[in-house]
Amino acid sequence: MSEPHENLTRVGLSILGSTGSIGRSALDIVRSHPGRFSVRGLACGKNFEEAILQAREFRPEVLSVDDSIYGRVRDALTGTGVQVLAGGEGACAVAAIEHADVLLSAIVGEAGLAPTWEGIRPGRTIALANKETLVVGGQTVIDRIREKGARLVPVDSEHSAIYQAMRGHPWSGVRRIILTASGGPFFGKTRSDLEQVSREQALNHPTWKMGPKITIDSATLLNKGLELIEARWLFDVPADQIEVVVHRQSIIHSMVEFEDASVLAQMGVPDMRGPISYAISGEERLPIGVPFLDLVKTGTLTFFGPDHETFPAIRLAARSILRAGQGALYLNMANEIAVKAFLAGQLPFTGIYEIWERVLAEAPEVVPDSLGEIRKAVRRATDLAMEAVSRIGSGSPAPVHP
Ligand code: MG
Repeated sequence: MSEPHENLTRVGLSILGSTGSIGRSALDIVRSHPGRFSVRGLACGKNFEEAILQAREFRPEVLSVDDSIYGRVRDALTGTGVQVLAGGEGACAVAAIEHADVLLSAIVGEAGLAPTWEGIRPGRTIALANKETLVVGGQTVIDRIREKGARLVPVDSEHSAIYQAMRGHPWSGVRRIILTASGGPFFGKTRSDLEQVSREQALNHPTWKMGPKITIDSATLLNKGLELIEARWLFDVPADQIEVVVHRQSIIHSMVEFEDASVLAQMGVPDMRGPISYAISGEERLPIGVPFLDLVKTGTLTFFGPDHETFPAIRLAARSILRAGQGALYLNMANEIAVKAFLAGQLPFTGIYEIWERVLAEAPEVVPDSLGEIRKAVRRATDLAMEAVSRIGSGSPAPVHP
């Protein structure tokens, strides 16, 4: 049997967020397909050991790390030929490296927007795991992608499912998008049950293994709300054509319903390597070590409507994009601050809801039309969220960027 990919040109790949769960999975795929990828740039945070290991193994041209470990990393990589940079500027420099065919954008939160923005280049594929780039950047980011002639391929499993289902189908025949949601660790609970839940309970997700921020977002279901906003921009569909269905097994990753009542679903064992590989490989079907789906063993697939009383996040997210303006940006920043405060023990679980409501109510209707304007809006929303946390939480909120 011949090697199926031996004649393909190497994919030049840069990764923003290389030591996070998405970044590490991507590097696993790179490792298991030698000769298929060439790592050009890596950007990560404070994980010194992992940053050094990755740089030594993958030999990127540029590695950017958090300012706090910059000196040690630079010293440790002396003589390797890897250029070491630091902080937000370093991440932007990694994103801007030439010869990267694909930029995997997997920094968590609004911090991912600026480097992703820098990475939007003619002919490049942006493999987008950072949903905040679209939640916060909205139309402004979409305009830049079109203007530069870049391609956006989603890495979020739900959006990847829709993207895959839509290959070969015109959007004019679509009636609805159906986003599946696992329901998170608090499925079946009432709102009053949630008042006392601990950090540990919220961090215990039933099907997906992810970083702490997105795990909390899955517990509140705001992750699904942010995904609804992300889908609105990715696929240019209005919020009222996007429905959420709770599907506990996470086997169906999302669906598209057409005007002829046909529904296309994309399925598989829940494993982020699937959508990551699809996006970074140029939409190839590489063997990546994900277990094959055994439907008989799976047995039953179940579906429920979301409980909007206990989990107001989905409706709030839909409301945030009903009118043009900064609603989604404000909701996102409120959430980033609230989740940090919850993880630091400064806010009860349902206090997160209160921060969303309070901050969203302040969102202006004017659309920021440049990265500079977006960043100003982010600062205003962040300040409002921190004020709200200090008013209703216990203790003062942890300092946050920017
Ligand atoms: Mg998702």
